[in-house]
Amino acid sequence: MIRNLWVRLLAAALLLCLLSPACAEEAPWVCLICGSESTGKTCASCSAVRGVWDCYACGTGNLSDACSGCGLHREESLRSQAFSGSLLPAFPAVRYLAAEGDPGALCLLAKYYENGILLPRDPDAAAFCLMKASDADYGPAFLELGKIYDQGKSVAQDQFLAARYFQRAAELGCAEAYWYLGTYYEEGAVVTRDYAKAAEMFRAGGEAGDPECWMSLAYCYAVGMGTDRDTAAAVSLYEKAAEGGSALAMDYLGYLYMSGEMVPQDTEKALAWYTRAAEHGNGRSMMALGYAWYTGQGVEQDLAEAIRWYEKAALAGRADAVEILERLQPQP
Ligand SMILES: [Zn+2]
Ligand SMILES: [Zn+2]
Repeated sequence: MIRNLWVRLLAAALLLCLLSPACAEEAPWVCLICGSESTGKTCASCSAVRGVWDCYACGTGNLSDACSGCGLHREESLRSQAFSGSLLPAFPAVRYLAAEGDPGALCLLAKYYENGILLPRDPDAAAFCLMKASDADYGPAFLELGKIYDQGKSVAQDQFLAARYFQRAAELGCAEAYWYLGTYYEEGAVVTRDYAKAAEMFRAGGEAGDPECWMSLAYCYAVGMGTDRDTAAAVSLYEKAAEGGSALAMDYLGYLYMSGEMVPQDTEKALAWYTRAAEHGNGRSMMALGYAWYTGQGVEQDLAEAIRWYEKAALAGRADAVEILERLQPQP
């Protein structure tokens, strides 16, 4: 009986709340199925009931906090979904976690706004997401803010401000930020040119895990910029960069071994590096491989194989490959 009374009181309170203007203007919620924002009980876009989520591990639809299929917790499922790396399926989870203030999700949401994916292109909204993520002292947010202001793509270019963002990102452990700082010291555009400082930044970034920093430090040693000139050190740093995944370094090693610059000429090694770089999407290496097969440089001359590489290079955006293909293949 008492329990019944409570239920009635609760129902009455709920009704009052629903009728009052404060409750009528409910904050929008993010649909976990399609990622739309809605205010009603069901999603205006896909009709899913508020709070329904699909388990990222087993696909079961759920309303409660734990998956009825596999027991995975909702937040855990949403995090796996949001940070899966595949843009489209991640979207509802990204938008939901971003609304909760998750800095990683905010940085991802900025990408959707920046590129107009599933949301209208909105550079201001993108910058806003990054600013919000930077409030949580999240390094990658400072890095992205630095890039935006460095390039001036969607905001007025401000490399002084960019340098401050890169500095903070570097302090928070973002290896890539050191590369920008090093480049600023090298160019002397927003800071006093200081090659030694540039080399120091590249070394710090390389040690923090950015292979492009090793690549830039290698160049410092190759030309004696901010360090002593030391080609052996340069070559071993190019190799370090390549082993760390830098396609630019792989391509450059291909060039060095092919030309015999800084290293003993070695066509076999050159082609091996070019192939690795090409596998990492490097268009210049694809061109070099096309040329090698076309001229029979270290391989048995093979026009079909040459065309195959030039086609890959064209698809990777090399306009010069298109020109060569037009010459090699008679137009129908
Ligand atoms: Zn929906
Ligand atoms: Zn499940």
